Amino acid sequence: AKEKGRNDFQIFNSDMKSVSINRLRLENELRRALVNEEFVLYYQPQVDIGSGRIVGVEALIRWNHPDKGMVMPNHFIPLAEESGLIVPIGEWVLRAACKQNKTWQSEGYAPIPISVNLSMRQFFQHNLKGKISHVLEQTELDPRYLELEITESMTMDVDHAIQSLLELKELGVNVSIDDFGTGYSSLYYLKKFPIDKLKIDRSFVRDIMVDPNDAAIVATIIAMTHHLNLKVIAEGVETEDQLKFLYQNRCNEVQGYWFSPPVDRLELEHMLRHGISV
Ligand code: C2E
Ligand code: CA
Ligand code: CA
Ligand code: CA
Repeated sequence: AKEKGRNDFQIFNSDMKSVSINRLRLENELRRALVNEEFVLYYQPQVDIGSGRIVGVEALIRWNHPDKGMVMPNHFIPLAEESGLIVPIGEWVLRAACKQNKTWQSEGYAPIPISVNLSMRQFFQHNLKGKISHVLEQTELDPRYLELEITESMTMDVDHAIQSLLELKELGVNVSIDDFGTGYSSLYYLKKFPIDKLKIDRSFVRDIMVDPNDAAIVATIIAMTHHLNLKVIAEGVETEDQLKFLYQNRCNEVQGYWFSPPVDRLELEHMLRHGISV
């Protein structure tokens, strides 16, 4: 029994070691990825529910790893957040997204806003306004064609969030609240935040046809956004029934696999030229 106990301990110990070695390796690889520009942006169209037109795109990061191929954000964003690497990675995303949007405009595509996800660390970063304004100047993108997505958890410190949001508004960019409904935003404070749009989280959208509670929540969020003069977009729309429900409940915009998954630049450009065929 004594023998076994020691082995268990050693197994546990070496597991722990390999976990931290893996983390360290991943962190170093992320640093290298930044230097070698291994990150790429994919783009998911945001569609006007009445006209079916593409009225925006969300930029979503991918890691084109030399050995592993295309790595999805849930495999590296959490560690990037913990290690602080999300700040330089987020800056790369912001610059790349603004640059690409400016290029599309120069090429004659109808101007649409590009949405960029901001991490908590970026949002509470000192001089966020200065950094974003610098990128906008460098890329010559008109600020109204940039939308920043923050999550509800970033609005928990209400005063700080209002202050940061006011600074972003001074720049002329748009702000939306991502994954809306999954956090604890007080509806009372919602009207005090200088924001433009709510993005209804896909966990509610997923079950609107099967769960009357989710249907009620989605309908209520949409009605509320109209009262507060906010725009509203539903995420994760995968079926025609969900789309119909959202249309009947006067949702403005939709995003999801029903229209298109996130795609690379060329595929997105094809959709911008020819529209989306579902
Ligand atoms: P998110 O911001 O909520 O992005 C939406 C995610 O839902 C994307 O996953 C997208 O591919 C997926 N999605 C879109 N439509 C559908 C649908 O109809 N059904 C289903 N099942 N999924 C759908 P992705 O690209 O893997 O990104 C995951 C998360 O990683 C993002 O969630 C965001 O939190 C984070 N992320 C991605 N890019 C960035 C970035 O540049 N910066 C930061 N800070 N986070 C990022
Ligand atoms: Ca998002
Ligand atoms: Ca989301
Ligand atoms: Ca999310």
